[in-house]
Amino acid sequence: MLKAQRDRLSDLAWRARGRCQTVDPETFFPAPSEPADVALALCRACDVQGSCLAWALDQGDCNGVWGGTTPRERRAMLVAWRLEHEPEPTPAH
Ligand code: SF4
Repeated sequence: MLKAQRDRLSDLAWRARGRCQTVDPETFFPAPSEPADVALALCRACDVQGSCLAWALDQGDCNGVWGGTTPRERRAMLVAWRLEHEPEPTPAH
């Protein structure tokens, strides 16, 4: 994830190279009851998937498929990241 964040910051034009640029944007915002398979397949073949995922994780809670992940997957990634990298709170006296 750190590498993806560095790549995104050093390549501000990543969006212009996304595979989604030539696809109906609605493809990446399926209804909750619809599969996201088409968008996920496009992301897997996208050259800027890492930068895109880093952007979406930086945004926090955003809708749609970004960087080959659904909102639910990104929430799980952020929870796991915080558990691994944030210090445990010190107990109150
Ligand atoms: S990873 Fe997916 S959403 Fe992100 S730029 Fe590529 S195709 Fe678009």
